[in-house]
Amino acid sequence: MNSPQIKDRLKVIRDKVEQGARLNLDDGIFLYEPDVSLHAIGELANWKREQINGNVGYYNINTHLNPTNVCVYRCRFCAFRSDLRDPKGYVMSDEQIIARGQEAFENGCTEMHIVGGLHHKLGYDWYRGILEKLHASFPQIHLKGWTAVEIDWFEFLTKKSLKEVLSDLRDAGLGSMPGGGAEIFHPEVRDQICEHKANATKWIEIHQAAHEIGLKTNCTMLYGHVEQAYHRIDHLIRLRDLQDKTGGFQTFIPLAFHPENTKLSHLKKPSALMDLRTVAVSRLMLDNVPHIKAYWIMLGIGTAQAALAYGADDIDGTVRHELIYHDAGATTPEILTVDQIRQLIIEAGREPVERDTVYRRVHRDADQFTHWWVGEDVLVNV
Ligand code: SF4
Repeated sequence: MNSPQIKDRLKVIRDKVEQGARLNLDDGIFLYEPDVSLHAIGELANWKREQINGNVGYYNINTHLNPTNVCVYRCRFCAFRSDLRDPKGYVMSDEQIIARGQEAFENGCTEMHIVGGLHHKLGYDWYRGILEKLHASFPQIHLKGWTAVEIDWFEFLTKKSLKEVLSDLRDAGLGSMPGGGAEIFHPEVRDQICEHKANATKWIEIHQAAHEIGLKTNCTMLYGHVEQAYHRIDHLIRLRDLQDKTGGFQTFIPLAFHPENTKLSHLKKPSALMDLRTVAVSRLMLDNVPHIKAYWIMLGIGTAQAALAYGADDIDGTVRHELIYHDAGATTPEILTVDQIRQLIIEAGREPVERDTVYRRVHRDADQFTHWWVGEDVLVNV
């Protein structure tokens, strides 16, 4: 395509976005063409982002909990997992898990993000019990836990229906679900990187079931490995279709592949330009998902700041104890202070707003770590 053709096509896309019309598969693939100006796409995504979320840059105060890294699966992109008898394998004790909750409470966390491996020998009750114990001891902390891959495993272990499993976990204290395990839905890619675990149909079915019983969830896409633009856009459209049906997704998080210590370590990690393009294209394609997150842990702080001008409105949280991306070579710090995260949002020209997991504003008084409360729902325009 020559330059005037690119300009014309971009104008058609700009008109569509400004008129609230939906972008299709071909539009999305076009936006990934290297000759299409990243700056132009970013500007349009930024316009859309400001229509939906104004000038706000969201963050939260959160911690991660990965109760075990032992996993029956062997996803090729995963540096976190361990075999059962590998010295690297661990299972946290109840005491360690409760200590993590206590640490989160003392540091003012509103959220624990809980994901891990599918242990060969631990039953469903162990996973459920983690939620139950934490919720009983720290009811004010929102438990965002277990990806669709884990829920699929629990369905297998319990022989119960998805809705029964999800309702049971909600009764134990589950507040919402993270968006992990989506990777790339298309079987041409999925069969190469994680052929054994829950497939696209199952992932979608699980999130739909969660939405139908009132649980909010997030959604993700792991990009920058063996997939092509077509697979990414196909993935985004599948998410958009489910969101049309249920409205249960809160945030889309594009996850950049980190190759170190994985079976795909011969690949290069995606560039910052690819990261920004993916944030922008996601904002433009997912016209019905309220929030796009620039996860600073995997993008790096500078790229995450820039992403706040390329379609993202959220930068994730202060984060404690992140293992999954650091095992795969992430060089970001393992934690940011509240002042640091607010400052990096301000430097990006945005207004920092602390949110809870379901995007209510969090207010804190002088003793900010132990006295906080949530305000009304934050309304967004999608
Ligand atoms: S990505 Fe998850 S399911 Fe796959 S091997 Fe790693 S821990 Fe297991």
